Amino acid sequence: MTGLVGAGGAGFPTHIKLKSRPEILILNAAECEPLLHKDKEILSLYTDQVLDGMRMAMDMTGAMKGIIGIKAKQKALISELDKRLNGKIRLEPVGDFYPAGDEVTLVHLTTGRIVPPGALPVQAGCLVQNVETLYNLASGTPVTEKWLTVAGAVEKPATIKVPVGILIRDVLSHFRITASPAIVRSGGLMMGKVEPDLDAPVTKTTNGLIVLPAGHSLSGIYQRYSDSGATVRTAMASCDQCSFCTELCPRYLLGYPVRPETAMRNLLFGRNQVETVHPGNAFCCECNLCTLYACPEGLDPKNATVMEKRITRKKEVTEARPAKPHPMLPYRKVPISRLKQRLGVSGFPDQGPFESIEWRPERVCIPLLQHIGKPAVPCVKEGDRVQRGQMIGRPDGDASSAVHASINGLVSKVTEREIMLLRQT
Ligand code: SF4
Ligand code: SF4
Repeated sequence: MTGLVGAGGAGFPTHIKLKSRPEILILNAAECEPLLHKDKEILSLYTDQVLDGMRMAMDMTGAMKGIIGIKAKQKALISELDKRLNGKIRLEPVGDFYPAGDEVTLVHLTTGRIVPPGALPVQAGCLVQNVETLYNLASGTPVTEKWLTVAGAVEKPATIKVPVGILIRDVLSHFRITASPAIVRSGGLMMGKVEPDLDAPVTKTTNGLIVLPAGHSLSGIYQRYSDSGATVRTAMASCDQCSFCTELCPRYLLGYPVRPETAMRNLLFGRNQVETVHPGNAFCCECNLCTLYACPEGLDPKNATVMEKRITRKKEVTEARPAKPHPMLPYRKVPISRLKQRLGVSGFPDQGPFESIEWRPERVCIPLLQHIGKPAVPCVKEGDRVQRGQMIGRPDGDASSAVHASINGLVSKVTEREIMLLRQT
């Protein structure tokens, strides 16, 4: 009832994950979205608390082993962790590439196991938990704060801790933005989304806010492919079926039957229909590497694959069978430094030291759906006074999660989607 959900971005309710019985609990400290640093900061500042959370999760699930998957370049942090580990938990340094922090990739990197297509990591005996999730688990209190990195075209990038529900506009007002006009990418350059509304709230799964000049090449790509018509038109006009998108696809390289070039071929010939989709594309993890890194023509195989994924889901095709990694897997990892160059963000400072800020937002907006599953159900009404940490939305059954007030305030609006609170001291 603390409203704990996976803080890595997916928002899977943690209480469900903790009911599984894995052999190994993996701490995902291999944050790989360019320019984001919040997991590293939490683990550096609260090493003991995160390890406590890891041990609690191991006790709750019965996992006999723990592995910390962490970038090998984090030498000082690895040394600190090493001093604190017992026989049950070990460190597994991984390379600095994208998407090392994807949980299926991390399971393979740290254990050599392959999560079968369509299955959860627990079917490979593993449970993967994000650093912030375990930090929150150890705190034992309702989730009312969110860690995130603010980076890109800002004078001093930083990792901060904000009240859940604070408006993005209020967060950015603490930073000097060095580009105008600018766009804001929420979540990450690769897997996040452009935030059209700065009055949108920070949720339990917002990991970062990246500011980009509106004229930046990435801003243009995000804008172009926000319209599926552009994905189709450019596929028909320019895809030469070179297959680079497939050859660099992390899921394909792990042996999954994902082939983005087949999705492009279907668009090329106007055959994006139930009968023609490649069923294996249902296992695309939407990492965006094919569109933002691999394709030499600047096309959009990611969204083409996602279109097929939606059709395939309708067909209810599943292929949960063991996969065998491609022999070229070790040689086709995309280093973060090369990815940053390709994205055109090498010029932005790649750091996010923690900055302590006392936030006193006038209002917060708490969405009732900040997780995978059913939305929470409001349990307050307009005019109620609430205290920080008080439950204001209760879970709607087991596949749901509670939400809590992140400030002391007055309930000013309750809808099916959100609860607005105004600050009161
Ligand atoms: S989408 Fe790009 S990378 Fe993929 S086959 Fe077409 S041209 Fe090649
Ligand atoms: S987004 Fe592209 S590269 Fe990533 S898993 Fe999907 S098809 Fe593969």
